[in-house]
Amino acid sequence: MYERYWRKRGEKASITIPGWQSMSYFSEGEKICWFMESELAEEVVRLHNLVGNAVTEGRHIVVGTGSSQLFLAALYAFSSPSPSHHQQPQPISVISALPYYSSYPSMTDYQKSGLYKWGGDAETYDGEKDGPFIELVTSPNNPDGYTRESVVKNNTHGFFIHDLAYYWPHYTPISYPSDHDLSLFTLSKSTGHAATRIGWALVKDPVVAKKMTKFIELNTIGVSKDSQLRAAKILKAVSDSSEEEAFFKYSYEVMAQRWKQLREAVQGNALFTLPNFSPGFCTFFNRHTHPQPAFLWLKCEGEIEDCASFLRQHKILSRSGERFGVSPKYVRISMLDTDENFMDFIERLSSIHL
Ligand code: PMP
Repeated sequence: MYERYWRKRGEKASITIPGWQSMSYFSEGEKICWFMESELAEEVVRLHNLVGNAVTEGRHIVVGTGSSQLFLAALYAFSSPSPSHHQQPQPISVISALPYYSSYPSMTDYQKSGLYKWGGDAETYDGEKDGPFIELVTSPNNPDGYTRESVVKNNTHGFFIHDLAYYWPHYTPISYPSDHDLSLFTLSKSTGHAATRIGWALVKDPVVAKKMTKFIELNTIGVSKDSQLRAAKILKAVSDSSEEEAFFKYSYEVMAQRWKQLREAVQGNALFTLPNFSPGFCTFFNRHTHPQPAFLWLKCEGEIEDCASFLRQHKILSRSGERFGVSPKYVRISMLDTDENFMDFIERLSSIHL
């Protein structure tokens, strides 16, 4: 959806990599994450400081093949025993409040790890009774777009992964710089370059950062340097942009326009309910802004029990609420598709009536 913007930026967001360059597994410098390109690390810090969405001081940055790889690296880091400790007898529970990002359960369990296992809803989890856990806190949340905090009861024996993929000013007001032990960000949702497969983790504890780096070493011996260099250039173009060509101004307006069209399309239609968000003060734009999530979390009302099948009959593809741990009366629909697909979607949605 941001393609038009990046076309306009032309050379400023392009790179050429000669055949002889960036051939080694290793990167320069003495950082814990030994395969991270320093240009990328610098641009990550620069952008966070500009946007004000995360504290970077005193943080180790770990780069990953998307934040997906970093999610697995973080599970490994929190659950793998230290050399001086014995293997824990039970896999640690990985939990998240409903509705949660549909990939978390499958990514957690697909290898049937002995270290961790999916534990479901974090709201009903009690750290004292149910044992150690890793809670995933996604804010703003995928699928419903609401801002979130940890919800586990008695949470002193837990670890937390803050998935902040959508904590950018085009999706939600930036109210303060996030300051967690471990947070994840991704190029996919910030600038739209999902295909570059670059994410980064901001990590307080050097031991955790080391274990995450070890996981990536075992998994893929590092992260594509070509991609890291491209990501660095893209982030640089965002930070360098003048007021007229500012990326977040553009992306905020595209999202605002889409949400407006969407609300108009279902206005007065008793079949559907949309989430309602209150505006908040955004320190980046220096004014109140409205949350405008990357996904529409839609509820089908009345008789319609299976909202995804109902929409499919009207040629709209969505993901059922069941995949997010809740009722099939809910569906998630992407708001980030191309302009053409989005307009088709709006047209089809507005033509549905009782
Ligand atoms: N976390 C959340 C909450 C997401 O929505 C997504 C993408 N759908 C990811 C992580 C994975 O993103 P990446 O492309 O960085 O692997």
